[in-house]
Amino acid sequence: MSELLITLNDIPEEGQEFVFDDQKYWSDAWKQFKVDVREGDPLISEVYILPQENGCLVRGKTNGSVTIACDRCTVDYKHKISTEFEEYEQVADADDPEPSPVVKTKEGLILDLGALLWEQFAMALPIKPLCNDDCKGLCYKCGADLNKEKCDCEKEVGDPRLAVLRNLKIKN
Ligand SMILES: [Zn+2]
Ligand SMILES: [Zn+2]
Repeated sequence: MSELLITLNDIPEEGQEFVFDDQKYWSDAWKQFKVDVREGDPLISEVYILPQENGCLVRGKTNGSVTIACDRCTVDYKHKISTEFEEYEQVADADDPEPSPVVKTKEGLILDLGALLWEQFAMALPIKPLCNDDCKGLCYKCGADLNKEKCDCEKEVGDPRLAVLRNLKIKN
């Protein structure tokens, strides 16, 4: 996978802005983490990094979209991605249970910006992707896309408990 590593020593004291628009970074990550999305509108990340003692402040956002299949009707749609974050990251202590995106090397402090951007992106993905909140989905019997057409099975769809009630004969 392509990496996005920033050498913090190279960044001036007053901080530096970066724009990342390499779409290959994302497509490689989707492959690596087996995330079932495809390219939509280009994902553009704008990041500001301010070096601090033992770490840095990172302020960033990613905007764009990915193509996902709707969970109900299976039709592909573009899912908007819009993340915004601000984090202070520093080198992890030896007893820190979580790995830090900032590591100390011979060359100085290195920030794994790709890991940060990925984390934000992953959180922006829907658990249940829907092309539309009102998506009617597919007919469970004939497979018709109910957003586009009506099928004859439709009237039988419903709560099976109600179907039982409908069949009750009322005796006079
Ligand atoms: Zn749908
Ligand atoms: Zn049907």
